[in-house]
Amino acid sequence: MEIASAFKRRGLLFVLSSPSGAGKSTIARMLLENDDGIAMSVSATTRPIRPGEVDGRDYHFVSDARFEEMVAAGEFLEWAFVFGHRYGTLRSEVVKTIEGGRDVLLDIDWQGTQQLKQVDPDIVRVFILPPSMPELERRLRFRGTDSEEVIRRRMDRAAAEISHWAEYDYVLINNNADKCRELVHNILKAERLKAGRRVFLHDFVRQLIG
Ligand code: 5GP
Repeated sequence: MEIASAFKRRGLLFVLSSPSGAGKSTIARMLLENDDGIAMSVSATTRPIRPGEVDGRDYHFVSDARFEEMVAAGEFLEWAFVFGHRYGTLRSEVVKTIEGGRDVLLDIDWQGTQQLKQVDPDIVRVFILPPSMPELERRLRFRGTDSEEVIRRRMDRAAAEISHWAEYDYVLINNNADKCRELVHNILKAERLKAGRRVFLHDFVRQLIG
């Protein structure tokens, strides 16, 4: 992707996927609180806003018609239908963050991850598994934001989402949110050190050994 080329260290697209309820949002929030070098990509969606959500912070909430316009205008790096609504990663969100010298955290599903991998083969993909299916259901109910029908559909979808685990670079089991966050952070820190991303090393080593 041309957007990362100007920087000392190539900015990372760091993808977190999991079935809903596996603790991904908590881990993402804790990661952002603990690391100034990464910022969330705020997706656009056609799903209705939930109580407590803020337009522009949690998602850019748009109509179906507007979403279609955005697709036609090439505004998305990827987009997919999830639970009957459309969700997409905005090119502008990713560019803004990378140009600001930070890595980008993307909370997207397996369909979006597959598409993004085509756009940028260098992305880092992390999948979070729940410890068990009953625990996943318990967490979905505890959240209390969704109707019974939505919970049922999410449980049905969870198995399908989980079946894509092997397409990811790292797979974690979320037994404990703190530990899982720490592991995700360790992955991020190690990925940042990969030689291929640290273009400044060429100059540094040339200086070092003359
Ligand atoms: P929720 O409606 O609970 O916020 O999110 C539902 C699902 O949509 C989650 O699994 C989330 O990862 C996925 N999702 C959120 N934003 C995007 C996006 O921009 N692209 C894709 N492909 N999936 C997304």
